[in-house]
Amino acid sequence: MAPIRKAVSRVMRSLVMKFTILTGMLIFATTSMLMTLESMSAQRETRNLVIERSIATLQAAATRLVNPITVRDDTAVEAYLQNLLDSGNFTELYVINNHREVLGEAYTDDRTKGGLRAANLAVVSLGAGDLRYQLDGITLQVAVPVYTEARRLAGIVYAKQELHELVASRNAMIQRQALLALFALGIFLPMAALLVGRALRPIKTLTDAARLASSKTLDMRIRIDTGDELEVLANAFNRMFARLDGNLKRIHRLAYVDMVTELPNRERFRKETERVARRSLEEGGSGAVLFIDLDRFKRVNDSLGIGEGDRLLEMVGRRLTEVARGCDMAADNLTDPSMVARLGGDEFTVLLPKITDSSDAARVANKLVDAVRLPFEISGHQVFLGASIGVAVFPQDGADPETLMRHADLAMAHAKRAGGSAAQFFEPTMNQSAFERLVLENELRDAVQKDQLVVYYQPKLFMKDGGVAGAEALVRWQHPTAGLLSPGAFIEAAEECGLIGEIGDWVLRKACRDAAEWRALGLDIPVAVNVSAMQFEREGFSASVNDALEDANLPPELLELELTESIAMENPERVIEQVQPLRDRGVSFAIDDFGTGHSSLSYLTRMPFDVFKIDQSFVRDMATNDHSRIVVETILALANSLKLETVAEGVETAEQMTMLRDLGATLAQGFLFGRPMPLTSFVEFAQDAASDDDDFGDTAVGI
Ligand code: C2E
Ligand code: MG
Ligand code: MG
Repeated sequence: MAPIRKAVSRVMRSLVMKFTILTGMLIFATTSMLMTLESMSAQRETRNLVIERSIATLQAAATRLVNPITVRDDTAVEAYLQNLLDSGNFTELYVINNHREVLGEAYTDDRTKGGLRAANLAVVSLGAGDLRYQLDGITLQVAVPVYTEARRLAGIVYAKQELHELVASRNAMIQRQALLALFALGIFLPMAALLVGRALRPIKTLTDAARLASSKTLDMRIRIDTGDELEVLANAFNRMFARLDGNLKRIHRLAYVDMVTELPNRERFRKETERVARRSLEEGGSGAVLFIDLDRFKRVNDSLGIGEGDRLLEMVGRRLTEVARGCDMAADNLTDPSMVARLGGDEFTVLLPKITDSSDAARVANKLVDAVRLPFEISGHQVFLGASIGVAVFPQDGADPETLMRHADLAMAHAKRAGGSAAQFFEPTMNQSAFERLVLENELRDAVQKDQLVVYYQPKLFMKDGGVAGAEALVRWQHPTAGLLSPGAFIEAAEECGLIGEIGDWVLRKACRDAAEWRALGLDIPVAVNVSAMQFEREGFSASVNDALEDANLPPELLELELTESIAMENPERVIEQVQPLRDRGVSFAIDDFGTGHSSLSYLTRMPFDVFKIDQSFVRDMATNDHSRIVVETILALANSLKLETVAEGVETAEQMTMLRDLGATLAQGFLFGRPMPLTSFVEFAQDAASDDDDFGDTAVGI
């Protein structure tokens, strides 16, 4: 019932209905007005006719009554009047003579005669001697003077009459009028409805279009060619729709498309993952989210510049898309194609909506790793990248996009830490280690602010006489609950959360100040400070070294900076650029952990370094392992021919020391001589060594 009432109410409130009702009212009003005018004139005619007829009757009576009045024949007068009353329409008739005496009277009602008071009209007519009549509503009074032949006024005949025919004719007229108006309505109203409906059809078209636009699409054109205001309105609508459509598409692009690669962006990927993961929960089946982070992109981007970097990202995006599409085709999976998106920076994601088992995802991930490893050609250069990929499979690794992406990201970080250019599946234990890492990072932030970091010094000694040749500054963290922590426990975390710059800077300044103090004590011992990759690559690195030297007032010759072999070899051009100005000032540079990286001989010869620090793994094994011994020998020979100093790290036994000395190593560092120790202990160590040169080999101080 309610829907019918609703539909009726909608029709009643429609414009067509309103206009039709208005037209109906106009038809009705016009017909009625015309009819009223016509009936008014017809009424007037009828009334005049009736009045004339009454006057004529009375005039005839006046002629007939001249004699009876003159002779005062009351009986004849009364008889005549009675006769007239019976035959006509009068209700009241009387005659008075010129002395105002009543000569006869007749009435339709049964009032008693004899007490008549002449009506005003009769008196006036008698006084004036002429005919008078008066119409009040439907009551007509007529007074007709009676003249003798000698033109003498003899009296008055007076009559009163109710003009009932006037009422009847008026009623008939109203009835006719109503009928005619209804007839006119019956004929013209449907026509009016038809015309109104047709005239308003463009408005319906406009309304439908507006409704469609608000709910579905703006991509349409309204066609109205009525040539009137509605056509103008329709054209305005069309222009508005086109503008809105364009704007909406632009907004959609801004919201869901990555501008650099034209790939879907994070939000679009999130939505699609949400949809697919929900479907897989409802219908069964599984899929995978792949989180891709490019290896070495930052470095390449820095050397290429932003514009070329963007072009490279675009190429990577295209390559990833091609691989993903190829895998879709190979798996005959065209109904549920994969989606490649860029999250920002050098991070991409791939959604595999349907996989049979995790080996499908592994296959795609490996193909992506291989594809990114192939060189990219950009501005005539060949650029080599890698991709670390984390894979989260749904529903087991998460059912919502946030969890899936976080898990894939964690897995990616593992792949990256393991050396990059590889894929790694998410494992639940990663969550725990990520949590621990988070706690560690937060505590580390505190540590920097609360001065919990300390610098220990480990002596470097001359092989030939056991004199202190220098000291390596090694950072420690005096953790409030865990005790003294070695850099191995926190340096990697500091690098990942960006605190390494701050920590490195602090160590550098502290080491410079301490070395300046040793100098004041008469100990001219150079200090070596480790520099991490991230710290070295930061803008203003050399400025911060200069500042540290100046603040401490330390001669640059007493500072040595240690870069690991991997930093030195990853971007040799940049290393040369950064190192040379500092070296020109007198700062010396060492390649740390030498032998573990993949140094290119041609670069090695051009690198502005002063010292090789032979990695402790070779020193440790050299007495037992030929390979290690040969590596040490080769490094020493190389250093000799390049005229570089060598430091053998990790010397723990006298046997190692003897072997190294025999092979020609110049400096040694290791537990055999001294562990890394606090500042005061180191000062004592150095003073002892200075006063007792001969005790070489027995001065080890264990910390
Ligand atoms: P590294 O620069 O190669 O430092 C030498 C490491 O070998 C030190 O470990 C030292 O304690 C250890 N070592 C020295 N002699 C011996 C020995 O005879 N036997 C054994 N087994 N080990 C020996 P530590 O202090 O734990 O430092 C580890 C690494 O952390 C350092 O390796 C260095 O790469 C890094 N590091 C330390 N301090 C800093 C710093 O302030 N900044 C940065 N960026 N890295 C630092
Ligand atoms: Mg070092
Ligand atoms: Mg080392």
